[in-house]
Amino acid sequence: MGAEEAQVIIKRVLAEGRRNLLEPEAEAICLAYGIPTPPSKVATNVADTITYAEELGYPIVLKVVSPDIVHKTEVGGVIVGLSSSDAVESAYTRIMENVRTSKPNAQVTGVIVQKMAPPSTEVIVGSINDPQFGHTIVFGLGGVFVEILKDVAFRIAPLEERDARDMILEIKGYSALTGYRGAPPADQGAIVNLIMCASRLVTENPQIDQMDLNPTIVYEHGALVVDARMLLSTRNLDQASN
Ligand code: ADP
Ligand code: MG
Repeated sequence: MGAEEAQVIIKRVLAEGRRNLLEPEAEAICLAYGIPTPPSKVATNVADTITYAEELGYPIVLKVVSPDIVHKTEVGGVIVGLSSSDAVESAYTRIMENVRTSKPNAQVTGVIVQKMAPPSTEVIVGSINDPQFGHTIVFGLGGVFVEILKDVAFRIAPLEERDARDMILEIKGYSALTGYRGAPPADQGAIVNLIMCASRLVTENPQIDQMDLNPTIVYEHGALVVDARMLLSTRNLDQASN
């Protein structure tokens, strides 16, 4: 379950000579592995963008989709919190202008029109391909915890469920998940489930060199991956085509 669909996408991306999956491609693979992402659609013009926003329901997030752009925020390619068709229309124009200014040569596929997830505790789940140990799963709290404090836990894939539980308990910022200052506790079962799905995803798709589900927003009930990045390696291809 999941692998067949993921391999269709991965092989197409490699055939097109790309190594970075577009966010919609990475999110389709996530969904195939039972990793929840907000409902979304890709639009290639402003009229469709508005239609899709109306269909999905507000608030909406618009993000640029481009094979030449990996970090969308850096080029002004993400606008969140849109609550009307007028706001969507002007955000579409602004994103196209921002991208044209900061990356004039980028080929733009379109925009991802995504339902905005309510704010809550942010975590990251990821994977790196260690030359010695192979696929290794990374878990940590989002934002400064990962970027500055390097407060992350690692386990070599494939994981057992108790590995996933241990990773959560191991990070220094664990108490941020247990509910503090009146905030509701984070659904640790949902995080365990997501870590296990991520482990299966990279194990069954060995071409994935790096994966970054960042941010993953965790609620009292459930969790949502609102950005997925996957980088393919050109190694391991023989293994995968068997
Ligand atoms: P990138 O990492 O490429 O800059 P993201 O897709 O992570 O772009 O978007 C940047 C930020 O916008 C995220 O870290 C998150 O805070 C917010 N964001 C993106 N998509 C959503 C969404 N669907 N719901 C809520 N917030 C979102
Ligand atoms: Mg991101």
